[in-house]
Order: sequence, then C-alpha cells, then structure tokens
Amino acid sequence: METKNLKVDLLCLGAKVSGVEKGRKAGAGPAAGGMCIFGNTVANVPTQSWFVVQSPYHIEAENGRYIIRRNGERIADVRFPAARFQELMTKDGIPYPKIALLHGKNCLATTTIQTCVYWNTPKRCKFCAIELSLRSGATIAKKKPEQLAEVALAAKELDRVTHVTLTTGTTSTPDKGINHLAETASAIKEATGLPIHAQFEPPKELSMIDLLYDSVDTVGIHMESFDRTVLKEVAPCKAEIPLQQYVEAWKRSVNIFGESQVSSYVIAGMGERDESIIEGGKMLAELGVYPFIVPLRPIPGSDMENEKPPGPDRMRHLYEAVAEILHDTGVSWRKCKAGCVRCRACSALSDFE
Ligand code: SF4
Repeated sequence: METKNLKVDLLCLGAKVSGVEKGRKAGAGPAAGGMCIFGNTVANVPTQSWFVVQSPYHIEAENGRYIIRRNGERIADVRFPAARFQELMTKDGIPYPKIALLHGKNCLATTTIQTCVYWNTPKRCKFCAIELSLRSGATIAKKKPEQLAEVALAAKELDRVTHVTLTTGTTSTPDKGINHLAETASAIKEATGLPIHAQFEPPKELSMIDLLYDSVDTVGIHMESFDRTVLKEVAPCKAEIPLQQYVEAWKRSVNIFGESQVSSYVIAGMGERDESIIEGGKMLAELGVYPFIVPLRPIPGSDMENEKPPGPDRMRHLYEAVAEILHDTGVSWRKCKAGCVRCRACSALSDFE
C-alpha cells in the first residue's frame, strides 16, 4: 500500500492501539491522537475517538518493534518519535509536557495561552478542545516565555527538535494574543535560534502582525472553512470576521514572511462541498498561502465529538486536486521553514504534492 494512501486512511479512520501510549487527550488543534512515523512520512493518528473501534487498522508491539495491521494483515512498520525532554521539569517545578509537547517527528508545539475568549460563549469553535486539557490538569493556563525557552532548548539538545509551533487561544485584547506570541517567540529564538511558527486570529489592526517579524519565521491564520454557512454553524466567532479581513491578513503576512510561509487550516468534513475546499485552496495558493487541508478530527469532549471524519476516498480526491493547484502556483510544504506545514503530521496534502 502506498504510504500516502495509508496516511489518508489513518488520518480519517484512526487506529486501535495496543501496548502503545495513545497520545494527548485534548487541547487546541488535532488532539486525541498519536504520532506515527512510517515510510517517508509522519501522521497524527486518531486513537481515542469513538469511530476508532470501527477502524480496520491496528497498531501493536511485536518483538520490540511496532507494526500496523489492516484487518489482521501486516501493512507497515511504524516508529514513534522520541521525546526525552518530556521527562524533565522546569526550574520552577512544572513537568515539561505541561509546557510543550513533541509534535510530528521534530516539532515542539504549545498553546501559549490555553484559554479562549469565546470558550464559555455560544461563539466558540465546535471542533476545538482548547480548555479541556486545562481543566484536566494536563497543561497550564499561560506559559511564560522563559519556561518555553527552557523547554525548547532541552528539546533541541536532547531530541533534535528542528522547529517550533506556537498557537494561542484568542484573547479579549485587540492583539488577539499576538503580543504574548511575540514575547514567547523572542525568548525561544534567543535561546535556541530555531525557526518558529505562530498561529493567531486575524487582528483588525493589521500592523500588529508586524510585531512578529523579528522572532517568527512563518504564521498560520486559519479560515477553517470557506463555506460561510458551515463556518457560521461550527465557528461563529470566525464567521463574524469578514473574509476580506482574512485576505488582508494573509496578504500582509506573505509580504512579511514570504510565499509558502503563511498557512491556513481548512477542515474537510463539516458539511461543505468539495468545490468549497478546492476553490478555497486555489484562492489561498494564488496568494502564496499554503492550504493546510485536514480531515475533521472529532475530539472527545468537544462539541463535535460524535461526528465522523470524512471518508479517505473523498480526502484523496481533495488532496489530488489541490496538489495540482500547488504545483501550478509553486506553493509547497518543502519551502516552509516551520510549523504545521513543515511538520505535516495532520494533513496528507504534502504527501500528494
Ligand atoms: S501538523 Fe501542526 S498540529 Fe499537527 S502535529 Fe504537526 S505541529 Fe502539531
């Protein structure tokens, strides 16, 4: 089975696991999964959602190694990335995994502010689980720049981490969390020199994005869905932001950080049509923005926990169509210096490029 096809299957169907740690339960982004390396790729595979029991895939230990089986048949060997830094504690006594985690093969990732202004309101994104990991005690509400610098240095030295992803819950302030991202990125950059990616909601005042210029290499401004009806239903806070505000933020960011250094998550499987994703992907790519297309990840405890991800065949069709567009525009994951696009565990688009 081709690696890219296996990756799509695993992203959409998940895998049952035995004798293996199942990964983080909640948080921002595609949580409730485990990082698996196989072939020449890496995948963030759902292991805890309800649909996983129906998956034909099973990851298990065999003679000190790990393998993936499909309906009992051995398909591939799989490895799990090492994260020795996650066994340490900060100088102020906080276990490193509460500060940041290893994502994909070699990306250190964290949510700098683990609260979101929309969380206790009807406007929150239904696919998100940002405050669930806070409630469970798996993380802390706000990570200090010096704590993250310490963890990043250890991750670089012990586990050869090569880039960093910083995300944030949206704050009630006009900077939407960008100020704290900038302070944090500066501290990490000074300590490690690693390339850094920062994700945030588009601010009204676009010049706020410029604050990241000195310390950040790539940014993510996530539209999630180009279907405005779907967006209104699943992410009312985002639907209130005019599309033009996103477009202006993407354009300004491409001017600052360069082509393929700006990305937008696009989630498939929330009720939109294929055209919405393909045309949205085209619009992004023509702006120099990487459309980071992922299948919906129904995280246990989130408002969408009972939903089902889209089928693998649909995802393959979307990836093939958008990969062709990327080819025509020159936008590529290979050019991206840091973040989800470089990590590529949550999307198989790079595997179709
Ligand atoms: S693609 Fe992004 S969210 Fe997914 S594992 Fe990698 S860094 Fe984390």
